[in-house]
Amino acid sequence: DLSEIGLIGLGTMGAALSLNIAEKGFRISVFNRTVSRVDGFLAEAGPLAERITPTRSLEDFVASLAEPRAIILMVPAGEAVDAQIAALRPLLGPDDLIIDAGNANFHDTNRRAAEAVAQGVPFLGIGVSGGEEGARHGPSIMGGGDRANWDRVSHILEAISAKYEGEPCATWMGEGGAGHFVKTVHNGIEYADMQLIAETYGVLRDGMGLSAAECGEVFGRWNDGPLRSYLVEISARVSAATDPETGSPMLDVILDRAGQKGTGRWTVIESQQVGAPVPVIEAAVAARNLSAALETRRAGQELFGAAPQSLPDGTLSLDDLEAAMIAGKIMCYAQGFDLLARTGAQHGWALPMPEIAEVWREGCIIRSDMLNDMAAALRGEPERNLIFADYFADLVARNHVALRKVVSTGALHGLPMPALSAALSYFDMIRTERSTANMLQAQRDFFGAHGFERIDAAGKHHGPWASGQDRP
Ligand code: NDP
Repeated sequence: DLSEIGLIGLGTMGAALSLNIAEKGFRISVFNRTVSRVDGFLAEAGPLAERITPTRSLEDFVASLAEPRAIILMVPAGEAVDAQIAALRPLLGPDDLIIDAGNANFHDTNRRAAEAVAQGVPFLGIGVSGGEEGARHGPSIMGGGDRANWDRVSHILEAISAKYEGEPCATWMGEGGAGHFVKTVHNGIEYADMQLIAETYGVLRDGMGLSAAECGEVFGRWNDGPLRSYLVEISARVSAATDPETGSPMLDVILDRAGQKGTGRWTVIESQQVGAPVPVIEAAVAARNLSAALETRRAGQELFGAAPQSLPDGTLSLDDLEAAMIAGKIMCYAQGFDLLARTGAQHGWALPMPEIAEVWREGCIIRSDMLNDMAAALRGEPERNLIFADYFADLVARNHVALRKVVSTGALHGLPMPALSAALSYFDMIRTERSTANMLQAQRDFFGAHGFERIDAAGKHHGPWASGQDRP
């Protein structure tokens, strides 16, 4: 029997996705650069192996697929994708579809989509979120490329995707790199969500002296409230875990140097390109960079001494911290959706804002109950900043005082809170009609004669400094 779909790249994600596809009843052919891995994969597929066709050469792989073919690539983003496309193209017909499901930079996907159009061969770039577990049992899928090509395979992608109350979390976002772009912003928000939790963990651990297990209990309780989310849930679990080697809390023996693969950075770079402010995400990326500079931090502590971080009893309550996290999280998502709206317009995509919130409700790393409320708010007015939607305006109004209390306490006691602080400043700036940018405009006019607008007259004006009239 010929297969309905094929997949190349049986690494962590590709293997899990293949099993998911087979489990949903589709016949799938698989191929891997290191051919021996195909046998290992099949041995672990159990009864699902019935629907899996293993192949040992690219030619056999292509021949095993029903026409018009659909081929998923699950190889590392970058050169491997271009190389794999180049190797496949001579073997494919004009209707055969290549689907890049890795974490591509959306600029690359835009380029590949344009090349595909020029060569007359179909191509899709889809963002897949949820890690190995998501890929195996239901990821969140953000599709991009020609709509007709998406429609050709959407029944498969919807079948394997996560479901939120029965609704598949697989949505077409727009042409070209739209799907990979939405996935990138998802990851940027993920960085920020994680950083907000890490900062709060710092207050619990260093400010309040809680053990890892006690921190786990706090996160566990928060996961029963408005912060209910996958990331808070796993924070509870990792806090509670014990190191089998030493018997210590697992968290306590993990080196505090965070890795990154770049999608958070891409989000920030793109935000700068389009002038969309995402300070909470920027702070999260910067915090990872600072965490990596372990030697510098060690030297800093030697030179200046560590700030005394413990808080006098009663300075902050757990409710304060929970409320600050709620306010911080809303600011972070407001920024992420603002970036999506602005970038979409620049690339000629009509990004489906409420559907983006919906596709993130299940399967992906940032899934949370709050995304359901965000979808509802964006459905009302997709272009409006999320914090102005009634539901979130009310939540912000009720929680920003706690955010202020937590951030100011952190400042006084040497507990670093880059993301929470960025959230607070963003909030204070976004509700300030008379900002301080008049000073910036005056400076710019002084040194560069850039001119400024006046509050009381139309047109472009200059200050008296050019003629020296500003001197007494
Ligand atoms: P792995 O390292 O586990 O697997 C990589 C796979 O790609 C292997 O099958 C490998 O084959 C193959 N490969 C590597 N280089 C080439 C090449 N030059 N040509 C052909 N095949 C190649 O990676 P993951 O499964 O973790 O990641 C795959 C993609 O999915 C990446 O883009 C990643 O960013 C993305 N992703 C990963 C997530 C995760 O949680 N891990 C989550 C979401 C997306 P071989 O056996 O021969 O080495």
